[in-house]
Amino acid sequence: VLQVEQTVQWMDKTNTKIQENKEYLTTLDQAIGDGDHGINISRGFQEVMNKVSGQAYEHVADVMKDVAMTLMSKVGGAAGPLYGTAFLKLSMTFKGQDVDYALFSQGIEDALNGVKQRGKSDTGEKTLVDVWSAVSERLKQEEKFDGSVLEETARTAMENTKDTLATKGRAAYLKERSIGHLDPGSVSSFYLFEAFAEVIN
Ligand code: ADP
Ligand code: MG
Ligand code: MG
Repeated sequence: VLQVEQTVQWMDKTNTKIQENKEYLTTLDQAIGDGDHGINISRGFQEVMNKVSGQAYEHVADVMKDVAMTLMSKVGGAAGPLYGTAFLKLSMTFKGQDVDYALFSQGIEDALNGVKQRGKSDTGEKTLVDVWSAVSERLKQEEKFDGSVLEETARTAMENTKDTLATKGRAAYLKERSIGHLDPGSVSSFYLFEAFAEVIN
């Protein structure tokens, strides 16, 4: 069962990875977007940590709700509402319950569907949906948490965005020229799941 403390740790590790790679995320978004993903997402997760650290939460869902509200209100662009939606769905699915493997897997599936709906996007369009859907599929195939499997799954999906043609988001304007570049949102989502993998191991 995922504990409240682990959930806060998950956000903290995600924030650390994002702050360390802020410039890298910016560089990736400069190539196929408008160059602000590093700024957007690093501000967002810094605000998340300001909000959730040191608070006494009863349930994992309560942490997820604060994360969602913070990302929605503090992060502009496409990524804020999309990540906000993902965490809002997690909080709704987890509400008041102990988050065991099956519920976590359900939460990720619901988050994925929420992001797809919000972004009018699907898997294979070179967005962060690619990473979330790969992780969701893998969670459904397994029966218990395996950090290295999850990390590997998220990493592969992130790397695969390089060879994909963007059909959603700003990168879609570049058409064929979007090929050969990693999707910035998939890289930030990879950090999120890499952090999760470290926390559950
Ligand atoms: P913006 O594109 O508004 O500047 P960011 O740079 O912060 O916002 O985030 C860009 C990322 O958001 C992309 O790399 C992609 O992963 C994700 N994204 C953009 N549009 C969509 C969409 N319609 N559906 C899903 N993800 C999207
Ligand atoms: Mg951008
Ligand atoms: Mg922007």
